[in-house]
Amino acid sequence: MSGPTYQPVESPDATTVFPYHDLTPPTTKDVFRARRIVSKYLPKTPLVRSELLSEELDADVYLKREDTLPTGAFKVRGGITLGARLDDEFREQGLIAASTGNHGQSVAYAGREFGLPVTIAVPDDPNPGKVRSMERMGATVEERGEGYDAAREWAENQAAEKGYRYVHSANEPDLVAGVGTAGLEVLDELPDVDTVFCPVGGGSGAAGYCLTLGAISDARVVGVQAEGANAVYRGFHEGHLDPGDGTNTTAEGIASHVPFALTMEIMRGRLADLETVNDDEIWDAVVAMFREENITIEGASGAAIAAALRAGDDLAGQTVVVPTSGRNVAGDKLIRALEER
Ligand SMILES: *Cc1c(COP(=O)(O)O)cnc(C)c1O
Repeated sequence: MSGPTYQPVESPDATTVFPYHDLTPPTTKDVFRARRIVSKYLPKTPLVRSELLSEELDADVYLKREDTLPTGAFKVRGGITLGARLDDEFREQGLIAASTGNHGQSVAYAGREFGLPVTIAVPDDPNPGKVRSMERMGATVEERGEGYDAAREWAENQAAEKGYRYVHSANEPDLVAGVGTAGLEVLDELPDVDTVFCPVGGGSGAAGYCLTLGAISDARVVGVQAEGANAVYRGFHEGHLDPGDGTNTTAEGIASHVPFALTMEIMRGRLADLETVNDDEIWDAVVAMFREENITIEGASGAAIAAALRAGDDLAGQTVVVPTSGRNVAGDKLIRALEER
């Protein structure tokens, strides 16, 4: 016997939501609650001083090594939280999501942990390593059409038809509360952090830092988008939720062209700033981390480091945290970036 099916309901943003998507922003308390789940299933990630960035910025710069998590990206904190709290009615049909990779890996990981079937729709030109990782964790990966939107629409239709629980990439309080646990870990070790730079795609990571470091400490949380995928940047500064016209960045982890209602509501009024960097700066940062620190990060993660480097002297004397949000860079992209520099 399978569970009920649901149809999409009116959405406050340009994405599709279902009746089970509660768009009430999670609170700091919810992040503490999520920590009880996350700490049971995932290791704490190290907070490690970067000599390269500390020297460049004349500051104390620490990397929150989210790349050391299973799946290689911070999103799994959210997947685990959502999977653990999933309503029983969805347990048999399981989860479906559309993803360029790390969101899908997070959902696949949670599915395996909690014994839920998982289907992930990916665009036609996916990061092959991310696809193999999802399959290794037991997810069914479906290549569905040109670009992310085609994959997303397919997943939404499947959810409506067959009763899968559609895991939205940002309008999910459990995902935001779950990824927020990284901020609590930073606070435990480094309560005097002045500034944190966080890459922004859908904004769940930055929203999580807003609810933790931003709410409990005096830290400034600065979000960073790619110039070629700046819909959230524009929505934040112009005060709307209008989609942009497509994306043009090689950092697929932050290649989102719509602002999301839930994460935007959290970021508004709490983010100290939202900036953009271009793809050259992003890959300069990825290459610098690889050559000077021997740390492999993906483009999305390079964006935050690029923004910190650009801030330069403004950060002198500060304690700065930059999450290395993910390590799942496609080999050919990294090689090209290294060859070009
Ligand atoms: C998803 C992702 C981001 C952006 O996170 P959002 O919560 O979507 O803003 C940044 N870095 C990596 C590695 C990611 O996978």
